[in-house]
Amino acid sequence: MKKTVLLAGGAGYIASHTAIELIAAGYDVVSADCYYNSKPEVFNRIEKITGVKVKNYDVDVCDMEALDKVFAENRIDAVVHFAGYKAVGESVEKPMMYYQNNLDSTFSLIKVMKKYGCDNMVFSSSATVYGMQKVVPFVETMQTGPCTNPYGWTKLMNEQILMDFANADENLSVVLLRYFNPVGAHKSGLIGEDPAGIPNNLMPFISQVAVGKREHLNVFGNDYDTHDGTGVRDYIHVVDLAKAHVKAIDYALEHKGSEVFNIGTGVGYSVLDMVKAFEKANDIKVPYVIAPRRPGDIDTCYADSTKAADILGWKAEKTLEDMCRDTWNWQKNNPNGYDA
Ligand code: UDP
Repeated sequence: MKKTVLLAGGAGYIASHTAIELIAAGYDVVSADCYYNSKPEVFNRIEKITGVKVKNYDVDVCDMEALDKVFAENRIDAVVHFAGYKAVGESVEKPMMYYQNNLDSTFSLIKVMKKYGCDNMVFSSSATVYGMQKVVPFVETMQTGPCTNPYGWTKLMNEQILMDFANADENLSVVLLRYFNPVGAHKSGLIGEDPAGIPNNLMPFISQVAVGKREHLNVFGNDYDTHDGTGVRDYIHVVDLAKAHVKAIDYALEHKGSEVFNIGTGVGYSVLDMVKAFEKANDIKVPYVIAPRRPGDIDTCYADSTKAADILGWKAEKTLEDMCRDTWNWQKNNPNGYDA
């Protein structure tokens, strides 16, 4: 029988790509998303790509009564927990909002899952849990924290909470995925990242400069200890990342306890490498100026994803050119994101 996966926060950037890969792998998919930071149009686009209309429940995942209905109406075998606020700067200004929402969503999901006998969860974590570590590559066994902002702390706290739950409950299976820097879009150009307001992240900013929405990119610092002085990160194509979720669900359904995996390519590129790669892949100019460092940024961050390869059988396959081309294909076809 087909297994059903609930995507909590299913209308988001990574979740929408994950829905497509789960459907391709033979899973049924249900979503719970109140569109706080996303648009209903994404489900029409997923239908165009897969031929499947994913049912979304317009509910706040923190609302246990509303969530109960989702489980009462569907036999959910596993949950991918994407539901959370994710703006680093905003989390510094509004810590209560971040701690309350990002932790409550986990509590309500786990409580309702237990009520309905669903024991499998994959959690959307982040390389941000490694804090200001200076040793690369980052390995899962390395020390985590202290984090540099409340958003990061909510990721680390959720990891600890879920590991403690799995430790106390022999039926529970929890897989924590630490994402590095997701970029790119589905090759159809129908779905992609649609940030609200001014993008915080590099790739959406580059593509908004390329499409003419912003004048230039500010490169945050060129005096880091890296090959060209600009910050180095591990950019991973969102479709590779989505496929990691499928492997994680397969794994969660077969195992008990908790495991944590880095999901990156293992290769670091600088800000200027990204600008040049984007220009080359798409034959378009990306004007930039060198600006001061952004507080809280580190020189270099990239993953050791050997554990994901060994245990999940997952490896990133897409190239930097794929990332740049697919980002641009999405951006130029949807200059205003999901808004018409
Ligand atoms: N960055 C930049 N200009 C921007 C956004 C980001 O120079 O407008 C740099 C940032 O300093 C870091 C890298 O790009 O070195 C990746 O930043 P992003 O916010 O995308 O991800 P992070 O790794 O910080 O979570």
